[in-house]
Amino acid sequence: MNVLTAPVRLVLGFLALYILASVLIFGYLYSQLSAALITQIDKALLDQQRLLVMRYHDYGRAGLRRAIENQIASRGRGEWAYRIVDAEGKVAFEAGGLVLPQTVPGKGVRDVEVDRVGPSPGKRRARVLSFALPGGPKVFIGIDTRQAGELMQGFRHAFMRTGILVVLLGAAASLWFARRFQGRIEAFSQLARRIVKSGDLSSRMPVQGNDEFATLALNVNAMLERIERLVQGIRQVSDNIAHDLRSPLTRLRADVEVALQQNDPATDRATLERVLSELGGMQTIFNSLLSLGQAEAGGMRLKRKRLDLSAFLAEMVDLYSPSAEERELELAGEIAPGLAVFGDRQLLAQALSNLLDNALKYVPAGGTILLRAARAGSAVEILLEDSGPGIAPEMREKIFERFTRIDPSRTLPGTGLGLALVKAFVELHGGSVRAAESALGGAAFKVELPAA
Ligand code: ADP
Repeated sequence: MNVLTAPVRLVLGFLALYILASVLIFGYLYSQLSAALITQIDKALLDQQRLLVMRYHDYGRAGLRRAIENQIASRGRGEWAYRIVDAEGKVAFEAGGLVLPQTVPGKGVRDVEVDRVGPSPGKRRARVLSFALPGGPKVFIGIDTRQAGELMQGFRHAFMRTGILVVLLGAAASLWFARRFQGRIEAFSQLARRIVKSGDLSSRMPVQGNDEFATLALNVNAMLERIERLVQGIRQVSDNIAHDLRSPLTRLRADVEVALQQNDPATDRATLERVLSELGGMQTIFNSLLSLGQAEAGGMRLKRKRLDLSAFLAEMVDLYSPSAEERELELAGEIAPGLAVFGDRQLLAQALSNLLDNALKYVPAGGTILLRAARAGSAVEILLEDSGPGIAPEMREKIFERFTRIDPSRTLPGTGLGLALVKAFVELHGGSVRAAESALGGAAFKVELPAA
C-alpha cells in the first residue's frame, strides 16, 4: 500500500509549512528581543556616562572617582568595569569585577571580551562604552552581557522545546485526522468496488455527522438510488416487452403457418392483413416504450414555447368532435380564456390525445365527455371527465404504470401504455396528473401544469 496517500502528503506539506512559519516568526522575535536587550544595556551605559560627566564637571577627577566608587557600592562590583586613562594614555584608575583588556579596541559602544575576577572568574562578553572628558582623561565603562545572553539562550531553549512539542502534537493530530479522512474515503472506494463486483445497486453509503463527507455520501446515495430505479425500469420494460409481444408473435406465427398449409390465395390475403395489423400494434408498443424510456431517463429534448392553452384545448375539442359524433358521444369544452403554459406543443397534444382516445374508447354510446380548463393559483388545471364506467379507487394510481389495463376481457384494443405516457409527458413539464371520480358518473383525469 502506498504510505504517501493524499491526506498524508497534505499533512506533511502542512507540517513543513508550519515549521517554516515558526522558524521565521521565531527568528523575527529573537532579533527583536536581542535588539531590545542591547538597547537597554546601552541605555544603562549612557546613563552612567551622563552621571560621570556631570560629576567630573562639578567636582573634577576626585568627584569622578567618588561617583564610580558610589556606583560600585550601591550596585555591587560584579557586573561592571570602570577605567580612567589619563591624557598620556596611562591607566589612572580601575574598578569593578570585570577587568578590561590592556587596550580596548574600537569606539563608541562595542562588544569586548573581558576577564571576570572575584567569586566566579573567567572570560566574559561585555558591552563597553568609552568617552573622553574635557582636559584629556578618557573613561571606559563596561557591563557584563551574560544575563542578556542567558535570557536569549533561555528563549532559544524554550522555543526549541515548545516547537518540538507542538510539531509532535501537530504531526500526531494531523495523522489522526488523515487516517480518519482516509477511512472515510476508503468507505467510498469499498462501496464502488462492491457495486462493480456484485452489480448490487441497493448498497448505500453510511451517512455520519453533518459535514462535507455526509453531503457527499447523501449525493452518492441519491445517485445510486436514481441508477437503481433506472436499471429497474429497464428490467421491467424488457420483461414487459417480452411478455406483451409474446402473444402477438405466437398469433402471427400460427396465422402464417396455417396460411402456408392451406395454400389458398384468399386466406393468404386475409392473413397478410392480420399480420399487418399485428405489426402495427407492435410498432405502437415499441414507439411508446421508446418515448417513455426517453422521457423518464431525461433524454427527451423538449421544444418548449409559450403555448396559448385555451386555443390549443379548443382545437383538441374540435379535432375530436367528429369521432365523438360517430360514436354517439357528446363532447363539450368549458375552457377559460387566456390560459397559457410554457410547453412542448407536440408532447402536450400527445398526452391530451391519449386521454381523449381513452374517453372515446371506454365511454359507451350516448355518454358525455367534458373537457374543462381553468386557472388554479400558479397552475392551470385541465379536467377531462366522462360518464363511462369510471376507475375503481384502488386502480387510480396503478393505471399510470406501464402495461396496466383494467379492461377485464381486454376486448378493446390498447397497449396499457397510454396513461404512462401521459404521466411522463406531464411530469416533463413540471406538472402532475391523477385520476378521480367524475360528477358525470365516470372517470375524471386532472392534469395540472405550471401556468406561463
Ligand atoms: P389502454 O391502451 O389500455 O387504454 P391506458 O394506459 O391508456 O391503456 O389506460 C390504462 C387503463 O385505464 C385502461 O386499460 C382502462 O382500463 C383504464 N382507463 C383509462 N381511461 C379510462 C376512462 N376514461 N374510463 C375508464 N377507464 C379508463
